[in-house]
Amino acid sequence: MFQVETQERTQVVDVTEKVRDELQGQNVSDGLCTVFVQHTTAGVVVNEAESGLLEDIESFLQNIVPDHDDYRHDRIDDNADSHLRALLLGESATVPIEDGELALGTWQKLLFVECDGPRTRRVRVTVTD
Ligand code: ZN
Repeated sequence: MFQVETQERTQVVDVTEKVRDELQGQNVSDGLCTVFVQHTTAGVVVNEAESGLLEDIESFLQNIVPDHDDYRHDRIDDNADSHLRALLLGESATVPIEDGELALGTWQKLLFVECDGPRTRRVRVTVTD
């Protein structure tokens, strides 16, 4: 488990190195690494971490799910847009492990996506062989 501190309401954070740190000492040479976000208003995806693209992902989520659009959940919690954005992303990503390393493609990174920041978030890393 590791924590991610976010500063913005919607923010994409490259957590690939944090996941690699968790993989160290697990002594699994071939298997699966699952990264799981224990929250209902954040997600995790695999994609490129180019800085312009990270901003594009943030604006994409804001465009596809408008802010505070008369959602029913807003009467309770005022963050329905955050839940709906997280729903599109999913709460986990699984990456193969080969020779003890994450078998990611050249441009692939593990991206944590904050949808209701700023907050401190918990991300679980589970390794199976
Ligand atoms: Zn809520």
